[in-house]
Amino acid sequence: MSTYKTGLEYALEQDQNDPLNSYRSQFHIPKNAAGNELIYMTGNSLGLQPKHTKAYVNQELDDWAQLGVEGHTTGKTPWLPYHEFLTENMAKVVGAKPIEVIVMNTLTVNLHFMMVSFYKPTKKRYKILIESDAFPSDKYAVESQLRHHGFDDKEGLILWKPRTNEELLRYDDLENILENEGETIALILIGGINYYTGQFFDFKRITKIGHRYGCKVGFDCAHAAGNVALKLHDSGADFAVWCTYKYLNSGPGSLAGCFIHERHAHDKNLNRFTGWWSHNKKTRFNMRDEFDQLPGAEGWQLSNPPILSMAAIKASLDLFEDVGMDKLSEKSKKLTGYFEFLLKQLGDETIRIITPNNPEERGCQLSIQVKNGNKKLHDQLTEAGVISDWREPDVIRCAPTPFYNSFEDVYLLVEKLKKIVNASLKPI
Ligand SMILES: *Cc1c(COP(=O)(O)O)cnc(C)c1O
Repeated sequence: MSTYKTGLEYALEQDQNDPLNSYRSQFHIPKNAAGNELIYMTGNSLGLQPKHTKAYVNQELDDWAQLGVEGHTTGKTPWLPYHEFLTENMAKVVGAKPIEVIVMNTLTVNLHFMMVSFYKPTKKRYKILIESDAFPSDKYAVESQLRHHGFDDKEGLILWKPRTNEELLRYDDLENILENEGETIALILIGGINYYTGQFFDFKRITKIGHRYGCKVGFDCAHAAGNVALKLHDSGADFAVWCTYKYLNSGPGSLAGCFIHERHAHDKNLNRFTGWWSHNKKTRFNMRDEFDQLPGAEGWQLSNPPILSMAAIKASLDLFEDVGMDKLSEKSKKLTGYFEFLLKQLGDETIRIITPNNPEERGCQLSIQVKNGNKKLHDQLTEAGVISDWREPDVIRCAPTPFYNSFEDVYLLVEKLKKIVNASLKPI
């Protein structure tokens, strides 16, 4: 099936023929002290800065300087409805309808807000199911929700675990858990792409299983949004949350996204926390009206939002709109497939990829397990000009992103890895 070839020549040729080739120059690529570009493989952790972001942020600083409070209504992109300028493009990125999407707060905060609405435990049905290697923040968040409602955070937490000597999760095992304990489970929360293994889950399948047993189902898409072509609406999930500083290139700690399925859009009986930004826009500034719930995801906002962060998100989303998730995804599959091909070509038994082989079950990240490897290996890669990510006990995560990583990047990364592994791990 594979038409990939070894050698630098091939990589350079692929870059030349890459229809997205020109986008790399629209990002700031970090450099070493000597001024040479680093091989940046951590777009899954902090996406790079688009060069035009500064102009978007500066525009808001200028409007604030020149207009003061009037910027809310007379700015070039007025602040009052600013979040609305993000909605449509963000909805496209995650495969949702505009009424289902809002940019607000930060990721873990949104997770809690979603649980205010969708985790409504009863004496009989109160447990929360997560994947066993969930991102720590998600685990801490659900544990604290269990405690908040007066439940034991160990007894109330159910883990979907891989089988012995496996890393990836199997749907049969999820089915089994639900068959046995489904009636006690109130909420299923899964990381859309697991941050550690890179396994991309079948949202529709998980949602179907969960709903069949009467559970609410939500996804944390921190590692999926902007990485794979999501179809949140079609998945039927109740909610999803994601950050914008990973694949969405919107800057450290930038605001997060939130999806609430359309079927909940007009449900005024759903429990939620509210503020003046959840109130009807038309009468918001009357100030003394009875609370009037905004429909859709917008109705989950509390506060008037930070415009500077939203400006960076707008800058990034404009690039996504320009390319589209389909084209990004197409290049991503090619680039990651090439990465996998080169790693396998090494024929090195000390190197094992734990991310699924099937391109439909992963994004651009490959998690590489190095037998007898330790953090030293990662540090040597860093010294060699590769920015990658180390996860204890023995995994290097590398994410060649289609926006700004090249085939040459991937080629050079594997060459450097080969050299280091050969020199440090093998007795000669
Ligand atoms: C990155 C990430 C987080 C980080 O949460 P913040 O609230 O943005 O600090 C949480 N969960 C997952 C799955 C992540 O990948």
